[in-house]
Amino acid sequence: MKLHRVPAAATVALVLSVTATACLGEGDQGSGSHAGETIRIGIKFDQPGLGLKEPGGEFSGFDVDVATYVAKELGYEPDQIEFVETKSADRENALSRGDVKFIAATYSITDERKEKVDFAGPYLLAHQDLLVKAGSDIESGSDLDGGKLCSVAGSTSAQNVKKNIAPKAQLEEYTSYSECLVGLQSGAVDAVTTDDSILAGFAAQKQYKDQFELVGLKLSNENYGIGLKKGDTATLEAVNKALQKMVRDGSWGEAVKGNLGLTYQYEPAPRIGVVKE
Ligand code: GLU
Repeated sequence: MKLHRVPAAATVALVLSVTATACLGEGDQGSGSHAGETIRIGIKFDQPGLGLKEPGGEFSGFDVDVATYVAKELGYEPDQIEFVETKSADRENALSRGDVKFIAATYSITDERKEKVDFAGPYLLAHQDLLVKAGSDIESGSDLDGGKLCSVAGSTSAQNVKKNIAPKAQLEEYTSYSECLVGLQSGAVDAVTTDDSILAGFAAQKQYKDQFELVGLKLSNENYGIGLKKGDTATLEAVNKALQKMVRDGSWGEAVKGNLGLTYQYEPAPRIGVVKE
């Protein structure tokens, strides 16, 4: 290797510029600005393809990748992230109490939730659907009249059932969709309802291979947002910037394809600030 002699003046300039970079300091949103700190992020632990805690303790899924990208833009490396489980019914409280800095957990932006928390995004558009046993003749909500439909407490999915999807079905509200899946498998419930993105991830699991099918109804628009504590405008703006960058630099496309591409016909990236009714 050829070594170059660096004149003394250049060395001084170099040292100065390194020092200047290291001192960007306060308010700097670049990576590494929170050295030594951790960030707590709320995700789901049992939704394959979106937010999953693997048996070995690692985390995977589209929400995990979005959260990791956003955290990096806020100045936290992956090893500074502590993922915390936030079930559907716990999300608003987890943010209000300050248990987590933000939530990326198939969390739909709704007016009702906006009274308690703020949302960055949206970063994915999904639709409510029904999951039934393969070969079932259930084709719509009304086919469930008198039957048992499983969803999760605190979700938009459970709310919509009573409002318009299957008001005459008996709604069983569990605490997580994975429990609903067990119920569907055993015959304790006739169908499971939530976002198609979530249902597709479950249906594709090895242990459920060929057992279930999505009806394909697109019963609602679910605009996934990053949940934040109400009034945390600085983080909200930084998260929106991060999401925009994630789409622009191709990382969003890679993450959605890598996590959901084989099992789910995902919608294109939504525009930040545009929530589809
Ligand atoms: N996206 C819907 C919601 O936020 C359903 C999925 C969930 O419960 O996380 O309520």
